[in-house]
Amino acid sequence: MSQTTELRETVTLQTVTQDISLSPRIAIIYTGGTIGMTQTDKGLAPSGNMAQRLSQLLSQQPDGIKNQLTSFDLFTLEPLIDSSNAQPEHWFQLAAMIWRYRDQYQGFILLHGTDTLAYTASALSFLTQGLGKPVIVTGSQYPLEFENSDAPNNVIASLVYAQNNQIQETLVAFGGHLLRANRSSKISTYSHQGFATPNLEALGHWRDDLFSLDGSRLLPAVVTDSNLYLSLSQAAQQHQAQVCVLKLHPGLSADLLAPLLRAPVQAVVLETFGSGNAPDQNQNLMALLKAANDSGIVIVNRSQCPNGPVSQSYATGSALSECGVISAVDMTCEAAFTKLHCLLQAGLQGDELKQAFKRNHCGEFSV
Ligand code: ASP
Repeated sequence: MSQTTELRETVTLQTVTQDISLSPRIAIIYTGGTIGMTQTDKGLAPSGNMAQRLSQLLSQQPDGIKNQLTSFDLFTLEPLIDSSNAQPEHWFQLAAMIWRYRDQYQGFILLHGTDTLAYTASALSFLTQGLGKPVIVTGSQYPLEFENSDAPNNVIASLVYAQNNQIQETLVAFGGHLLRANRSSKISTYSHQGFATPNLEALGHWRDDLFSLDGSRLLPAVVTDSNLYLSLSQAAQQHQAQVCVLKLHPGLSADLLAPLLRAPVQAVVLETFGSGNAPDQNQNLMALLKAANDSGIVIVNRSQCPNGPVSQSYATGSALSECGVISAVDMTCEAAFTKLHCLLQAGLQGDELKQAFKRNHCGEFSV
């Protein structure tokens, strides 16, 4: 990780909104993003002092909300970033941090920019499997202090859900919806409802001071020893897997793609047409995909359509399977990409990687 993008962690303040002796404690990890931005000469930029800003926000809440809130510690990562600058190393660093503080907190909240929130949230869903605690990821389309900002509601809902010990997985709380992190994608650049899970109904909703949760659809509790993921996350800060996303489009030639389908690339998310189709009449392109697969590059087929799985109902889809390309079913691009990253970091390659990719680890595709 380069010096400029490394996030350092500092506990900036312990903020108490209720009697701490009675209340569980939540860790809020602030990484940057619009939620904490203020106006500068160059436009919106990440801004600090979040502990005080959050305290002020909570003190302004009506009693119906205040009664549902709890104490939290704020961790500020430095430098704060616009999430367009988030790198895979950040996911691993955040996961390692959550594992390290696992026993100190009842739940974790990540305040993150929305642009790459779905990538970080998906990665954390894989990297914190077995944590046994809620990890709630949120952000906002508008800064905390802007009039009619979506930030206050998202923060408050996150604080409520992060205390719920029924939740033992990573979820995104955004715009009134509680979403499985590894099924979520950013769907709007401006709407308060900026995220959706196109292939899964929301797991909860909130409005005013009512926070619902469909507990029957949460992942079952599996608490594991942290060592595997902690050491994986720590190791991944030194070495990075090489995964890329390639989108098919009419006219894409083998010549154009060839430089990308070779080392150091280890795995590819191939965004295909419709239900997982590719131009099978382009024999050079198909031969290139097969050669890449034979050389050990794992290629996964995921549709450019947000909704629905890939299948082999068309000859143009089964041609890809014949090249060794495997199905991502209805995974989001973000989930497929981060899953490949995590599995590569865990040392898997070739067929082992393919088998592990096909397994449903934490609700990332429909079965
Ligand atoms: N560019 C911002 C970010 O991702 C957008 C946001 O947070 O809404 O950090």
